[in-house]
Amino acid sequence: MIEMYRSKNCGELRISDVEQEVVLSGWVQSNRDFGGMTFIDLRDRYGITQVVFNSDDNEKLSEGARKLGREFVIKISGTVRERSNKNPNRPTGEVEIEVKEMEILNASKVPPFTIENETDGGEDLRMKYRYLDIRRNPLKEKLMFRSKLAIETRKYLDNQGFIEIETPVLIKSTPEGARDFVVPSRMNPGQFYALPQSPQTFKQILMVAGMDKYFQIVKCFRDEDLRADRQPEFTQIDCEMAFVTQEDILNTFEDLTKELFKGLKGIDLPDFPRITYDEAMKKYGSDKPDLRFGMEFIELNEDMQGNGFGVFDNAEFVVGIIAEGIAGSYSNKQMKELTEWVQRPQIGSKGLVYVKYNEDGSIKSTIGKFYSDNDLNTLKEKIGAQNGDVLFILCGETEKTRKQLNELRLEMARRMGLMTKGDFKPLWVVDFPLLEWDEESNRFHAMHHPFTSPKKQDQEKMMKGEHETMKGLKADAYDLVINGSEIGGGSIRIHDRELQSKNFDLLGFSKEEAEEQFGFLLGAFEYGAPPHGGIAFGFDRLCAVMNGESSIRDFIAFPKNNQGRDMMIDCPATISEEQQNELSLKSTFVGSNE
Ligand code: ASP
Repeated sequence: MIEMYRSKNCGELRISDVEQEVVLSGWVQSNRDFGGMTFIDLRDRYGITQVVFNSDDNEKLSEGARKLGREFVIKISGTVRERSNKNPNRPTGEVEIEVKEMEILNASKVPPFTIENETDGGEDLRMKYRYLDIRRNPLKEKLMFRSKLAIETRKYLDNQGFIEIETPVLIKSTPEGARDFVVPSRMNPGQFYALPQSPQTFKQILMVAGMDKYFQIVKCFRDEDLRADRQPEFTQIDCEMAFVTQEDILNTFEDLTKELFKGLKGIDLPDFPRITYDEAMKKYGSDKPDLRFGMEFIELNEDMQGNGFGVFDNAEFVVGIIAEGIAGSYSNKQMKELTEWVQRPQIGSKGLVYVKYNEDGSIKSTIGKFYSDNDLNTLKEKIGAQNGDVLFILCGETEKTRKQLNELRLEMARRMGLMTKGDFKPLWVVDFPLLEWDEESNRFHAMHHPFTSPKKQDQEKMMKGEHETMKGLKADAYDLVINGSEIGGGSIRIHDRELQSKNFDLLGFSKEEAEEQFGFLLGAFEYGAPPHGGIAFGFDRLCAVMNGESSIRDFIAFPKNNQGRDMMIDCPATISEEQQNELSLKSTFVGSNE
């Protein structure tokens, strides 16, 4: 047989190739035996081509073909023929190969799940046999999309004069708010490296070093509880620029995002709206609102309090949303189920009040005792509700109630089918608070990270200790949000040593602690740090959101499961005693417990 594995791939032959002699290699997708004729669908990365064995021409060859199992690797040579029974769903569907020779390159066990677009394999099984899963189109296409997205990102940033610089993976802890993964150092017993939660401090130091436009498509590591859109190791498009204002950064990365959508999806995104953090919380109860639908919050204290309804009268905050056009389709039973939904501990609301403005003008509500139809019709006018709409109301402590209503808003959008796939609504959320209160540790934390610059007007107050509240301090920090997902976040940084020290001070670091953890950065700031700022995009998440998917897992070739395990290589795993000894782990931990 010809000394070559393939002259063509399994996705490229067309009707114009008829009569050509070709060699193809690939995997057996399916094997259909019709007595004298055996049809094999041969698959590779590029597609599927039908190949035919005719026992009239060569019985021995046909007999071999009949024995081919799924996922056998074969090489065939033969002639391209026009198919009598064409398959319009496949680019190669007009032709088939009449096989002259076949060689089995490798046998295969029967795969544990079907290698089809829709598979019967559960997630852990698919992860264990990831190499089989990646043979399926959906996974293969996602990885190809990812590759293209990375290449287009590099092209754009290169065109803008950015330089890709690698930063180390074995570092000292970076304070991005999550736990670190640590690596014991053999040569320094009892000491550990941390894996970077991001290259934050290095990219800032690169600005001091004069590399005024840095980027890196980089792995970051955070030891957090996992969800569908989180992985312990994930990838960022990480960037930093010197001599820029917030405006410069937003414009550069809005442009990058537009280019990526245009290049990969053929979509022209309009300019991104910008809203402040405070406005986002007020209108949507979330700093990452999904703008594919409205349902903005309506504050109702003024309208609803003072009618003798104790639940509202005693609440700090009364707020509602209008779900349009659902009055007719929501039965009492469904309303009850929805009430139970908001009362689940994950949402935590005490109850749900609704006012149903029926199509025929009648009103049904849970608060009829306290509000006459007249009252509720006045309210309807004021808030712009229509017949057929339902007004949902929650009340309680302001911040909590906003969060609960955000959940209900999203749930209603899900139920009403308003999260349209293929519709993209990006926005910038700006002016984040500098600090946030952390209930668990009972102190303030940096909302973004401790290198984030307070807004100009707050800097002076902060230095003099004259700021009214810690909560009121605002930062030059911003997030890019698309369809309710945080795609990117960044900030203008502090480049002044004094201000940085003050910030550490507010965050409860003693001088010694700050020096010990960040002395290298504070030191660098004494050698002419330029004004600078940056941003990082969650690359896996961007892939998922651009494809209308909520899970990032399938955009990662070898992801971890919910327990943080790699099911394929079966890790984390124990290490030998010898290794532990070498790393001084035995003596540090096990020994000290004895
Ligand atoms: N290091 C930040 C993060 O990972 C991004 C930035 O501020 O540039 O969220």
